[in-house]
Amino acid sequence: MDWEIVIGIETHAQLSTASKIFSGASTAFGAAPNTQASAVDIALPGVLPVANKGAVERAIRFGLAVGGEKVINRRSVFARKNYFYPDLPKGYQISQYELPIVTGGEVRIPTRNGEKAIRLTRAHLEEDAGKSLHEDFRGMSGIDLNRAGVPLLEIVSEPDMRSAEEAVAYAKALHVLVRWIGICDGNMQEGSFRCDANVSVRRPGAPLGTRAEIKNLNSFRFLERAIEFEARRQIEILEDGGRIVQETRLYDSDRDETRPMRSKEEAHDYRYFPDPDLLPLEVSEKWISEIEAALPELPEMKRERYVSEFKISPATALQLTSDRDKAEFFERSVGAADIVAFPTAPQDIAFTMVGEITSLLNEEGLDFSESPIKAEQLAKLRVRVLDGSISSKSAKEVLSEMWSGASDPDEIIAAKGLKQISDAGAVEKIVDEVLAANAKQVEDYRAGKEKAFNSLVGQVMKATKGKANPAQVNEMLKRKLTG
Ligand code: ADP
Ligand code: MG
Repeated sequence: MDWEIVIGIETHAQLSTASKIFSGASTAFGAAPNTQASAVDIALPGVLPVANKGAVERAIRFGLAVGGEKVINRRSVFARKNYFYPDLPKGYQISQYELPIVTGGEVRIPTRNGEKAIRLTRAHLEEDAGKSLHEDFRGMSGIDLNRAGVPLLEIVSEPDMRSAEEAVAYAKALHVLVRWIGICDGNMQEGSFRCDANVSVRRPGAPLGTRAEIKNLNSFRFLERAIEFEARRQIEILEDGGRIVQETRLYDSDRDETRPMRSKEEAHDYRYFPDPDLLPLEVSEKWISEIEAALPELPEMKRERYVSEFKISPATALQLTSDRDKAEFFERSVGAADIVAFPTAPQDIAFTMVGEITSLLNEEGLDFSESPIKAEQLAKLRVRVLDGSISSKSAKEVLSEMWSGASDPDEIIAAKGLKQISDAGAVEKIVDEVLAANAKQVEDYRAGKEKAFNSLVGQVMKATKGKANPAQVNEMLKRKLTG
């Protein structure tokens, strides 16, 4: 009998504020150790935390994007999560516990059979801890508190995912969303977006199994491999008659395996209680409406619109909305094309964007906002193919010229003499000449040899130096041969 994998994900997204969540110290990445740690961050006695409005505003933006105003709690409470660790000088982390700022919401992910909604349990504000440094200290460990107090939004999903693939799709969708709404830079190498995966297995229909939590996965690939390894490990244990212990594990990417970090018995009792230094967080209806009014159109809405309005496939729409620059490029380009005269232009533009242009950009490590080919010029080029001015083959040549700096497709077409002969009379004259000069092929074709037809098309194309419109030549030849 089969096993079903069950996954719930906790994501820490670093909120992109200039200063920390409870102090004025900078959050910029990469500074020398402890140069961005204020009295609040290093927990000097007598200091008081002050909540950063920008962090709260970003959390609200997130809530609105995943569930609208109904998931935003008008009143939430900061709590102390008590534990001892060298990188936590206060002896507690300020987080939200019983009353988080966001309760509920969902993130839609693409799956093999359409879309699936992954429910969110909650999203709460908290501060990051510092970092222990174990290198370059002549055998001693150092503590860097630059990261202490950096604002985080912890986003907790329900255990709604059923494969490593779905888990990755969820993490990617969330990653797109937080960058889209401008609350997190999404930089995974710098730890701005990290996932903990909770994994269990069960027989389909059985109650949830015991889970293991794999901490701090900072790439989609590690997330996928860690879940796959962990599910296999649990299935093996269960099939051998063993049982799973609830524990926290770490993924070792060098060995591609998960290892225990601490078991439930060693789990902390965090003794949460409301932080007496911080008032409950009250957010007004007015503020929520202002934030809502400033939200951009979300990727999900754009996708639906691209599919219904422009007949773009869902898979392509997903690619076009992987970041806002790309979607804006697409919309600018479509806006520059005459889609009444050329209704397939949007599909054509999308196809070129996700194909040729994306591979060119990837080679140079650029994104659409940095593309040497401009959106309006792309539209102009594709319209030249659709109106029969140039062939698709010539369009590739023009595109590569545009990539190298020449911007106007019409100038490139003129300079390279790529314009197709669209004058029907001129093409017909050449077709007649070719037919007259190739009596044998004409006979063969009429005798049922299809290949002879291709040879005739080829000769016409050759005679026109490739500038005839192949569709037009085909149609003309067919008419003359069967007529
Ligand atoms: P904790 O309080 O220990 O953090 P939570 O109940 O908050 O536990 O759950 C943490 C995460 O684990 C959530 O994302 C949730 O969906 C997931 N989860 C809970 N139970 C399971 C399970 N049996 N299998 C997989 N994931 C689970
Ligand atoms: Mg939790």
